[in-house]
Amino acid sequence: MPTSFAASPSQDGASTPPFERILQALADPVLSLGPDGTVLYANAAAETLFGGWVVGLAFHDLFPAYRHEQDAARENGPRTLVTQQDLAFEARFLPLGPGQIVVTLRAAEPAAGPAAEAAEIDDLTGLAKRRIFLAHLAAALSQDADDAPFAIHCLDLDRFKLVNDTLGHAIGDLLLRKVADRIVSACGKGDVVARLGGDEFVVLQHGARSQAEAEKLAARFVDLVGRTYVLSGHTVNIGASVGTALRGELTQARDVLRNGDLALYEAKRAGRGRFRLFQPGMDTLLHERREMEIDLRRALALKQFELHYQPFIDLATDEVIGFEALLRWRHPVRGNVPPLAFIPLAEENGLIVKIGEWVLRTACLQAASWPGDRVVAVNVSPLQFKADTLLETVRAALERANLPARRLELEITEGALLDNTENVLATLNALRDLGVMISMDDFGTGYSSLSYLQKFPFSKIKIDRSFVAGANADSEAILRAVASLGTSLGMAITAEGVETAEQLARIRGERCTHVQGYLTGRPMAPDRIADFLARPDAHAPLEDTAA
Ligand code: C2E
Ligand code: MG
Ligand code: MG
Repeated sequence: MPTSFAASPSQDGASTPPFERILQALADPVLSLGPDGTVLYANAAAETLFGGWVVGLAFHDLFPAYRHEQDAARENGPRTLVTQQDLAFEARFLPLGPGQIVVTLRAAEPAAGPAAEAAEIDDLTGLAKRRIFLAHLAAALSQDADDAPFAIHCLDLDRFKLVNDTLGHAIGDLLLRKVADRIVSACGKGDVVARLGGDEFVVLQHGARSQAEAEKLAARFVDLVGRTYVLSGHTVNIGASVGTALRGELTQARDVLRNGDLALYEAKRAGRGRFRLFQPGMDTLLHERREMEIDLRRALALKQFELHYQPFIDLATDEVIGFEALLRWRHPVRGNVPPLAFIPLAEENGLIVKIGEWVLRTACLQAASWPGDRVVAVNVSPLQFKADTLLETVRAALERANLPARRLELEITEGALLDNTENVLATLNALRDLGVMISMDDFGTGYSSLSYLQKFPFSKIKIDRSFVAGANADSEAILRAVASLGTSLGMAITAEGVETAEQLARIRGERCTHVQGYLTGRPMAPDRIADFLARPDAHAPLEDTAA
């Protein structure tokens, strides 16, 4: 941002290095500030000091609550300022044009702190560790709630592990330092920032009386931490999830922290990269989910899962060429829990890997007894790809059922290709080499999308039912575009969720090759399949036996 120095001396002769280059070469941090205290320029030393990125921040973000820079510039005297991390600097303020100020910083002699405190400080980030944080929290709680309102913010980084795994720990460490700096820069003087370990941080915000005050800081954390980092030449994007809790009437540190944690959990569930303020209902929600989780853990052992099968039809021959396996959970008290009500939870806690293995084994075994050469399509969660056991699970399931690989089709969603694409592609290729078909499920609903089709030669694209049902011009255009793209890439196209004869007629006109929906068959219990196939009009509407 050197343009902010436009008002600077411009006597650069041909032989003089440009002003900007001199500033960049200085070992001491130099900043320029606008009339309102916004940082307009920072040289390299200043960027390093404050974590790489300061232009646009307020000077009092860098030096907590220091708001006297205009006075200091008038008096031209040095000041000792302390950063959030308690680094002391001798600052000189020089007026420069109307309202603009140049600030130069030089490290002050370190004050001899008590050696004992070193053990309480996180080496990597210079932040307090848990014990100091708890001491501050206890001190704040010992004061009257009206006199000493505060909020805490529990922060957790999104995708930090991915950075560590792909770029190495040195970059991971660098990132944590910069994150710490950004968190600190958002805080006010006296606020306490601690690193609890890993990528977890916690902040004690003094004086936060209202939700709005706490939310403002929480939003700032999400914004600042979520901005791009450049680390040793790598561009890195992560996010922060923040759980915020006001002190309220609480008196115990552990209750305050628990509320912050609950809110953090909700922030992550809501999709990460956001903050949530603690609400009293959150513990009930968590409690219900825990109960559901306990039930879900037992469901496999208690044989509460079943697979139902929905037929799909080849539009060229109007024959049922296969069935998609759809998971059903019959719980004695909860009743029939639909997959969308428990699969996200099973993905959250990793249970989906075991459940998915059961689905694969069972689907292969049941399909082996079907008449003809029909295909069984099995949904595979992105989590199963991450578990690294998918290839082996599939191989074992086929072998045990004595089912030829060409009769198994795996349905994956775009989510599987999001992270760690290289590994996923390697697994997909190995599965295809095994002879298994791979199709892209729910196409059009995800992250959009067309580039994924070029990364891997899917056998089939399943167009989400929202494009089939939504008979407006947009969905029709999308349906047509995907169908023609798929055709040109040599992929089959299934239209999902076809419910009416009119939709079916439309699909036929759009180069779709397959159809699946209530019109041509609802999901049915495995013992209904033989009857269903024996009917002369085996793709006519059937009763839903799944309900
Ligand atoms: P999906 O893979 O897209 O499966 C199709 C869903 O659409 C099924 O819902 C099916 O019952 C429903 N459907 C089919 N035809 C029609 C129609 O004409 N109209 C309407 N309104 N709906 C139709 P279901 O069984 O509730 O499954 C929902 C989702 O749960 C599946 O979407 C899939 O993503 C997931 N799922 C189901 N079984 C499994 C499984 O074994 N493993 C994993 N990871 N996910 C599964
Ligand atoms: Mg599916
Ligand atoms: Mg689908």
